[in-house]
Amino acid sequence: MEFRCNLRCVHCMIEGTMDRLKPESTADFRRILARNARSREWDGLILTGAEITLNPNLPAMARAARDAGFRHVRIQTHGMSLDRPETVQTLVEAGVDEYFVSVTGPDAESHDAITGVPRAFDRMMHGLDLLDAFEGVTILTNTVVTTRSFDRLAEVVDRLSHLRRLRQMEFWVYLPMAEEDDKNLVARHTDVLPHLRVAASRAQALGRAVEIKNFPPCLLGDLAHLVLNEQPELHIDPAFWPEFMRNGFYQCVHRDRCAATDCLGLSTAYIGKFGWEAARLSPMQYDPRHRRDAARQILCN
Ligand code: SF4
Repeated sequence: MEFRCNLRCVHCMIEGTMDRLKPESTADFRRILARNARSREWDGLILTGAEITLNPNLPAMARAARDAGFRHVRIQTHGMSLDRPETVQTLVEAGVDEYFVSVTGPDAESHDAITGVPRAFDRMMHGLDLLDAFEGVTILTNTVVTTRSFDRLAEVVDRLSHLRRLRQMEFWVYLPMAEEDDKNLVARHTDVLPHLRVAASRAQALGRAVEIKNFPPCLLGDLAHLVLNEQPELHIDPAFWPEFMRNGFYQCVHRDRCAATDCLGLSTAYIGKFGWEAARLSPMQYDPRHRRDAARQILCN
């Protein structure tokens, strides 16, 4: 719903297309709300963009979504705008109850270097602390895993350990949106693995749910079920999709013999940089998705 942004993250997935992608129209937005008001087919709505908090209509959109029967309204944000108490108050009162915030590093030096803007970390952290005081709010975080961040993942978990409303931590392994890794941000999975395991285990020990995207589950052993590549139904300018598909998906020499149905395999850029990793990857004998679903079922019961 908003394709402007005031950060310059090195790993941005839409930096090359932000200027030409068009936000969903108000008419399309209203159509979705009207459909849900009739059918109640969706439980939650996620408003995102580049940076959704730059859209002055965000509170009105959230209110309209709640009126249309969405029980949860989430924003995906870099969190800088949340450092103003009045902004947080307005968003919470408008019905935004889930905040999915990008945390790219464990401290100002690392986060600001990746996001390209001084004080981005301090403002984001202040916003998280303000949110943490609100009853009914759920905080989720995402840390994009690149060559610039992979060895600091556990520190990110530690830095956020005081947040009471942080329910879920996600780790999305970087996709370059191109056939080559021009910015040298694609990290080798086996280099990432020990850091990802420690971060995921530490987050779980703090009571957080953990989701990992775009990482081979066969490398994760007993944590394979944390890989979840499904995404919500996405309404976006169709010009996004050809760029997205340049990543190349489901490439793996073991694909035909592997039981993992929710694995994205290796990207074209990854294969170009590190090869097929045939000896390191190994076909799975069970589908980790089933184990994850079973774990969720136990939690729900
Ligand atoms: S063997 Fe290949 S398809 Fe199977 S989980 Fe590993 S990377 Fe994915």
